[in-house]
Amino acid sequence: MNQDTLLQVRNLKVSFRGEEGELTEALKGINFDIPRNRTVALVGESGSGKSVTSMAIMQLLPARNTVIDPASQVTFEGRDLLALEGAELRKMRGKDIAMIFQEPMSSLNPVFTVGDQIAETLMLHAGLGRRDAFKRAVALLTEVGLPDPEKRAKAYPHELSGGQQQRVMIAMAIACEPKLLIADEPTTALDVTIQKQILQLLADLQKKHGMSVLFITHDLGLVGEFADDVVVMRHGEIREAGSVEQIFNAPANPYTKALLNCRP
Ligand code: ADP
Ligand code: MG
Repeated sequence: MNQDTLLQVRNLKVSFRGEEGELTEALKGINFDIPRNRTVALVGESGSGKSVTSMAIMQLLPARNTVIDPASQVTFEGRDLLALEGAELRKMRGKDIAMIFQEPMSSLNPVFTVGDQIAETLMLHAGLGRRDAFKRAVALLTEVGLPDPEKRAKAYPHELSGGQQQRVMIAMAIACEPKLLIADEPTTALDVTIQKQILQLLADLQKKHGMSVLFITHDLGLVGEFADDVVVMRHGEIREAGSVEQIFNAPANPYTKALLNCRP
């Protein structure tokens, strides 16, 4: 594995079992790399397999009806993530790789203040005591640009706007200094002006913390400004991958060309 590669996906093949036992292939053996300290955009229309890819990396697909081909490999700093279990798996999810989703409320607990939730993460994964953890939570909320962070740390999720909730999720995600942040359509549910602010925040944090970001989006219009590399997906396959300059200036694949022509 190249020294500068953080995560390597090889032959990732995922199928789902239907009611009658029939298998539908969602990922048809995909390959791509996430280099260290770069933002990779995973782009494709709805249903192309972007979220399944991220859930497979995190081992979050439902065991009940998911079949992962045994030849699939996801290697993160030399470890096969698909083989992790127990404490190692919890450590990977809590520290090495963090994830944020389209709907921040789906990950926030409505009955705890946002400061307490971030503090909880820090107590669990960074071994801080409650007082220090809460202090650190306020510092993180300040870092992600939440206005009046001291006061808002004591707010419940529903008391914040959608953009503010996403800032809280980002604070929680970076709390343990992950090496990789997976952001699955992080701004799709937000107003256009807020979208740009959140993406700019992610770009700033990526640089400041020197982490890698897997930025999942159906919107190729956001990619040029906020990503270094692009992976284009369709129907569970990767159609094209390369740097932003390469893909935007000289797309080789007809599907990529069509996507680029559809940009507003
Ligand atoms: P997107 O690119 O929009 O994120 P997804 O990765 O969510 O697409 O979905 C890819 C395909 O896999 C879709 O056809 C979807 O219906 C199917 N799929 C995703 N999750 C499941 C699941 N838990 N059970 C069955 N099918 C699923
Ligand atoms: Mg999705």
